[in-house]
Amino acid sequence: MAPLPKHRHSTQRKGKRMKTRLINFPKLVKCGNCGKLMLPHKLCGYCKK
Ligand SMILES: [Zn+2]
Repeated sequence: MAPLPKHRHSTQRKGKRMKTRLINFPKLVKCGNCGKLMLPHKLCGYCKK
């Protein structure tokens, strides 16, 4: 049997979860070479620098 939640989570609880998700979302930074938005500590997808 698959585990099912015993009680429905409140909207407040859902909102709290979404809030932490937004905080954990990776921040986009501008590439120093071409100025396009990219993930920090990653290669730029446009100029590969
Ligand atoms: Zn770039």
